[in-house]
Amino acid sequence: MTPASNNIFHKSLVDDREITITYELVPGRGSGGKRLEKILNLAEQAKDDGRIKALSITDNPGGHPALSPTSLGLDIQALGISPLIHFSLKDKNRNMVESQLFECHRHDLLNLLVLGGDYPRYGFEGQAMPVFDLDSTQLLTLIERLRHHSTVKKGAPGGVMDLPPMDFFAGCVVSPFKVLESEQVWQYVKLLTKIKSGARFVISQLGYDMKKYGELVRLMKNLQISIPLIANVFIPSLGVARIMNNGRVPGVILPDTLLSRMEEEAECKDRGEEARLLRAAKMVSTLQELGYAGVHLGGNNLDFDKISFLLDKVDEFKGKNLEEDVHFPEPFTWYLHDDCKQHPRERSFSFLYSANDLVHRQVFTGKGRFFSMAKKISLNAIKHKHLQRLYTFFEQLSKKLLFHCRMCGDCTLAESNYLCPQSGCPKRMINGPCGGSINGYCEVYPKERLCFWVRSYRRGPTPDCNNIHEIPVLPPKDWSLDQTSSWLNYFSGKDHCKLQVQDKKDEDAP
Ligand code: SF4
Repeated sequence: MTPASNNIFHKSLVDDREITITYELVPGRGSGGKRLEKILNLAEQAKDDGRIKALSITDNPGGHPALSPTSLGLDIQALGISPLIHFSLKDKNRNMVESQLFECHRHDLLNLLVLGGDYPRYGFEGQAMPVFDLDSTQLLTLIERLRHHSTVKKGAPGGVMDLPPMDFFAGCVVSPFKVLESEQVWQYVKLLTKIKSGARFVISQLGYDMKKYGELVRLMKNLQISIPLIANVFIPSLGVARIMNNGRVPGVILPDTLLSRMEEEAECKDRGEEARLLRAAKMVSTLQELGYAGVHLGGNNLDFDKISFLLDKVDEFKGKNLEEDVHFPEPFTWYLHDDCKQHPRERSFSFLYSANDLVHRQVFTGKGRFFSMAKKISLNAIKHKHLQRLYTFFEQLSKKLLFHCRMCGDCTLAESNYLCPQSGCPKRMINGPCGGSINGYCEVYPKERLCFWVRSYRRGPTPDCNNIHEIPVLPPKDWSLDQTSSWLNYFSGKDHCKLQVQDKKDEDAP
């Protein structure tokens, strides 16, 4: 095994004298063929060139099946270049996640990019089942535990067991390119939960709005968070740019102004290829000036000669002020540090939110007027089978009508402004949104259904994205509670609030 200290990507990223360049590889469906040969050829040339510090490998991109990133990662590693494994959560439950982490560690594949992933699409005989058992925040928490000598709990199969520390270098993603306040604030809140949970570097979504790139750097500076930021610079062909402009790639915005420019450039003899590469080089140079520690390059139909041409040009553009040349904002975008008066206020506390919150506070919080009574009834119901059935039936009926409840047994309604994430969010995200929304619409139902977390933002309070300390991180759901009463689980201390109930017990004690 290669010692962790030989991790070129890690070393380069923490060295602030140089900008870290990574390049994204997209393995296709199948275990070999021309596409794979081309990828390995590019990897070999990148290794000889030396300017690219890691090759990142996507994990079933677009929700379609492809060669696993660990398999290609091993090939890349054997060529002597650091792989950066995309570790997504759409296709694996928590046990498969842990198993694959062991696999990665065993093979010294330590650089991980943690992400939820695109919603699963077609596969063998139809659309695949979306898993999303953990979200990226929870996976980062698991990785952080494995990094620090994790102990498997007593009572778990296998009993008490110490696992040796696994020194992963895991990062996360964020999109600073959201157009609406509700989407953007949530993106930053979620980013802070990921950093709090152990992310050690951040890669942005791809985008073309330089002011937004600057906004992310400024947010990190204001919060005095010094983990390395990597900007995502994607070089699309005209065909792919049209698809992106049409909103057909989850979470990606390619403004009309950029598409028109590319259409003009395509009139040239080389169909606009040089112009695209020069624009990317100007972007890299500008992002370096903005304070990014690295740039994550990607594109379609790029061979190594083109990447090399781009990197040569970056050096030529150094020190020139080129920001305006490569700034393509989407009209009516909300910016965190602007006084956005032209934007209508998105947030208005709704009557439904206020009414639900009032009931919640009175019944389910320690100081509530009905808390003790509700707790007594609930603990009594647990002791009598028939009463328990009646109690559960009543909960199911009332919450189905009010919240489309699916009886997950661990209710997080209060944490999402009294909207149910189990029925309202296709990825069942409980710690804030994924990055897939476009103009406020859900990745799974584009232009049709608003993102669950946009709706949540608009009806009540949201954690402050300027205060990392106050942002709560919810643990993963315990599936043994599924189809049971969340009220009983709450009052008997079995759900995610167990400590709160314990506190109340102590308070109640004579
Ligand atoms: S118990 Fe679960 S499924 Fe039901 S409303 Fe609460 S979060 Fe939604």
